[in-house]
Amino acid sequence: MSGSLVISLDFELMWGVRDHRTTADYGDAVLGVRQALPAMLALFKAHGIRATWATVGLLFARNRREMLEHCPELQPGYRHQALSPYAAIRSEIGEDEAADPWHYGRSLVDQVLAVEGQELATHTFSHYYCLEEGQSLSAFDADLAAAVRIMSAAGAAPRSIVFPRNQMTDAHVQACARHGITAFRGNPDSFAYRARSQEDNSPLVRGLRLLDASFPVTGRHSYRAPARIGACVDVRASRFFRPFSPRMGALNDLHVRRIVGEMTVAARAGEVYHLWWHPHNVGRHTGQQLARLDTILKAYRRLADEHGMRSQTMAECAAASQGQAAPSN
Ligand SMILES: [Zn+2]
Repeated sequence: MSGSLVISLDFELMWGVRDHRTTADYGDAVLGVRQALPAMLALFKAHGIRATWATVGLLFARNRREMLEHCPELQPGYRHQALSPYAAIRSEIGEDEAADPWHYGRSLVDQVLAVEGQELATHTFSHYYCLEEGQSLSAFDADLAAAVRIMSAAGAAPRSIVFPRNQMTDAHVQACARHGITAFRGNPDSFAYRARSQEDNSPLVRGLRLLDASFPVTGRHSYRAPARIGACVDVRASRFFRPFSPRMGALNDLHVRRIVGEMTVAARAGEVYHLWWHPHNVGRHTGQQLARLDTILKAYRRLADEHGMRSQTMAECAAASQGQAAPSN
């Protein structure tokens, strides 16, 4: 069996960072997505990449009225209230994408929809946190229903989900299957990558992950056959593609080399290698980060020629592991 490269993007603009960043300190990276996203799509096209864009449902709204119309009645009651976006939707954000390009992104979603081979998936409606205190399974279910509704108004139906901050339980995964979702992105099989609430993400765990980004600390993260929970296939993550940072010096190159090395192992062994990042990770130092991405995708092309490696969306990878074709969205 030939190996496959799966790429997923957590597409969220400000909705994914609003509890710990502001437009004043991070708004430039979020605005940078407007250059980075079309450039990534062009690279994907050039290299034959079929990527999964796990998109926050709120980004499908063209204006605040549409956003409010689609908000679920049952909303999560997080203990840490800043995690909930609903008060901000009512009173803080602008009216539409022209007035508030940090919180609206429909024109960007439409660019993704226009490129062949890209899968539009969900990153929940509200950037929902499955392991934070105060959430409930019924609030999650209502959130997903809202995500499916706003996507179907745009002519799309999600087959895959990426859970915000990689927080999930088996029960949350099973709830997804009821909404037609067949693939989710689980975490790498290692202590450092286990699903945790923000509070449980200690500096030790974060340090371990940083070290592992450039050096082989936690072992191999590509895999032969994805596991499943109920009707959902776990197309689990292999590695987070870290943003370029001038402070990281030589580690920037070492990280790319580690990714290419892992991808090569996967191609030779006929395994799945799943790389992920956020579009806003390319919103700063855009030129450098795109150059690194190009290096990775050129390596993929070589592996495709030499070992028959294929590019697959999450839904396609899940379907192939179950021996069936993926439905298109
Ligand atoms: Zn996110």
